[in-house]
Amino acid sequence: MITASSENAVSALRNAEELFWINPLLNSAGIPRSALSLGINDITDAQQRLIRFAPLIERLFPYTAASGGIIESDLTPVPALQQSLAPRCRGKLYIKQDNTLPIAGSIKARGGIYEVLKHTEALALEGGILCSGSDYSKLADYRDFFSQFTIQVGSTGNLGLSVGIMSATLGYHAVVHMSSDAMQWKKDLLRKHGAEVVEYSGSYTEAVLNGRRASEASKQSYFIDDENSPDLFLGYAVAALRLKEQLERRQIAVDAEHPLYVYLPCGVGGAPGGITFGLKLLFGEFVRCYIIEPVNAPCMTAAIASGKGTDMDIGRLGLSGLTAADGLAVGRASALAYEYIKDIIDGCITVHDDKLIPALISAYKTEGIFMEPSAAASLCGFSRLCTPEALQYLSSADPLLNLDNAVHIAWATGGSLVPESERRRLIGGLEP
Ligand SMILES: *Cc1c(COP(=O)(O)O)cnc(C)c1O
Repeated sequence: MITASSENAVSALRNAEELFWINPLLNSAGIPRSALSLGINDITDAQQRLIRFAPLIERLFPYTAASGGIIESDLTPVPALQQSLAPRCRGKLYIKQDNTLPIAGSIKARGGIYEVLKHTEALALEGGILCSGSDYSKLADYRDFFSQFTIQVGSTGNLGLSVGIMSATLGYHAVVHMSSDAMQWKKDLLRKHGAEVVEYSGSYTEAVLNGRRASEASKQSYFIDDENSPDLFLGYAVAALRLKEQLERRQIAVDAEHPLYVYLPCGVGGAPGGITFGLKLLFGEFVRCYIIEPVNAPCMTAAIASGKGTDMDIGRLGLSGLTAADGLAVGRASALAYEYIKDIIDGCITVHDDKLIPALISAYKTEGIFMEPSAAASLCGFSRLCTPEALQYLSSADPLLNLDNAVHIAWATGGSLVPESERRRLIGGLEP
C-alpha cells in the first residue's frame, strides 16, 4: 500500500503488509521543527574527534593504514545490479559499502566506535594520561589504565561487535548484553576478542534494559545507550560529511536537477536517523531519505506514521519482531532518533522477509558484493520506489518530479564479518 494517511499506514502495519508511507508532515527545508539541541557544529566536532583518534586506530588496527586510521567505506556504482532490480528505473544506483567498514564490518563501526573513543578521550584527559595536542596513538600503551573501567552495551549483534571489539582492544572490561536474535557467530567473535557476552532469551528492548541496569549499579561502568545516545547519533551523522566529500570527488551534483535518494535500513533508528539528519543539514530539499524496515519489526515506521511516537511499539501492533534481518529486529524505536527525523524523513518503506535474500543474492551475482540480510533491505527500498505505482504516486504529488538525473544510494549496512559457513547458507554455491 502507498499512503500518506496514518490510519491506513497503521492498518497495513498491523497486517504485516508491505507499506510505502509518504510523510505528509515533511518539512521540505530539512530542519526538524521542534527546538533540538544538536546541529551541524556537533557533527563537525565529532568528525574532528575521529581525526584526532585516527593515529590510535591505525596503530591498533594496522589494516586501516591505507585510510590513515579513518573508518570509511566506498561509494560504488552498481549498474548491473540496478538493471536486475529495477530495469526501468532512470537515474543511477550506487551502494554505500558500509558492509566493508573496517573493525566491525557494519554501519555500527561509525556510531559505536565513536562513542567508545569519545568516552576514552574524557577518561584519559581526566586521568592525566592525555592533554590536548597529544599524539593519541600513545593511548595504546595504557591498557592497564583502561582495565579499571567497564563499558557495557545492549545489542542485537552488530553494535555489540563494534563496541565490544573497540573497548576490549583498548583494555576495557567490555560487557555486551545480547538479545535472542543475536547470531551465535557474533557472540563467538566477541568472546574471541575478550569481551564478556551476556545472553538473554528475550527481546532487544529487554537486553538494553538489563545492560543499563547492570551498568548503573557500578560507578566505573559506562553504558552505551542505543535508545537515547546523542554521541552514537553524532558518530553516525559524520557519514553525511564524508558522503558529501565522496560525491564531490566523483563530481556528482546534488541540486534541484539532480536529486539524491537514500535508502537506509532501520533498526532502533540511530544509524539511519543520524545519517538522515546530517544529509538534510547539508543538502536540504535536494536529498530524499527513506527508512526501510521488515514488515515484522517496523518500529520506527510505526512511531512516525502513527503520529504516536515510540510508545507505538510492535507489541501494540501485534507483530512478532521475527525477521531474517537480525540487525533490524527491534520492537521499539529510539526516542532520540524519532524526535530528530519525524518531520524530515521523506517516507518509510516496509518489506517482506522473502524479498531480502533474493536482493542479497542479486547483489552478489551481479556485482560480487556480499551484504547481510539487514543491509539488503536498502535494495528492496530502491526497488519499491522504482515501481510504476510508487513513481506515479510521487509524481502526482510533485508534478515537477523528474528522476532522469537522480542518484540513488542504497546503504549496505553490514556484511564483511559474516563467516563463510553463514554466507554459504545465504547465497548457496553461487559464484559472482
Ligand atoms: C544496526 C543495524 C542497522 C540499523 O541501525 P539502527 O541504528 O539500529 O537503526 C542496519 N543494518 C545493520 C546491518 C545493522 O547492524
